[in-house]
Amino acid sequence: MLRITDLHVWYGGIHAVKGISLNIPKGQIVTLIGANGAGKSSTVRAITGLVKQVSGEINYKRPNGENIKLLSNTMVMLPEDIVKVGIAMSPEGRRILPHLTIEENLQLGAYIRNDKEGILKDMDWVYTLFPRLKERAWQKGGTLSGGEQQMLAVGRALMSNPDLLILDEPSLGLAPILVRELFNTICQINAMGKTILLIEQNAFAALHIAHRAYILEVGSIVLEGEGKKLLTDPKVKSAYLGG
Ligand code: ATP
Repeated sequence: MLRITDLHVWYGGIHAVKGISLNIPKGQIVTLIGANGAGKSSTVRAITGLVKQVSGEINYKRPNGENIKLLSNTMVMLPEDIVKVGIAMSPEGRRILPHLTIEENLQLGAYIRNDKEGILKDMDWVYTLFPRLKERAWQKGGTLSGGEQQMLAVGRALMSNPDLLILDEPSLGLAPILVRELFNTICQINAMGKTILLIEQNAFAALHIAHRAYILEVGSIVLEGEGKKLLTDPKVKSAYLGG
């Protein structure tokens, strides 16, 4: 569904992503794992059109068979157009709108749509996935706990009805029990047909649910394979799973 080939990202003289290639097949959960500064967010920013100094190819195939070049050499697509072709991102640090209620934040996620019935159906689906959001629909985003804000960020991304959902470090700052709950929900979202790119530092949680995984170190992919297989890989165990 999404194929990245020889992607480079620079910030001035800093070469943050150094020629990575990865493949996200339709219907799968693919995880990109790496420590702080490995280049995970830069990769996501390249997919979503948010970096300027970039080169490589990013090809996206829509479920209707249409092929779209998100990045071709140095030509990037605009972020708003990327949402329109069916890609949504839940950003690192959540970035929900603190003065708006949960319901209003979710409605904003659907801003590109005008199918009222579909929007209501997806709102119900998000409330089924995250009952806690339903209980607090009128609470302002800024007063939610970290875990609730994370649920809202994922819910808001779902409201654009994406085919590909990108989650940038959803477990950041969450207690282990909430991580488990959220990752169960990510599996449910995937089971409903959404393809997922999961960016994570929490290798243990991510490898458990991912069909395929890529490990990123200082801008390069150093290892790739099936999620569960990498859980037992000695290099992964010592570097990312605490031995
Ligand atoms: P983290 O998990 O800490 O967010 P990451 O794997 O997402 O890390 P990136 O945010 O992609 O890593 O950063 C990769 C490298 O690029 C780092 O060395 C970082 O300092 C650098 N970098 C990122 N954004 C900028 C920027 N706007 N200007 C300059 N350097 C940047």
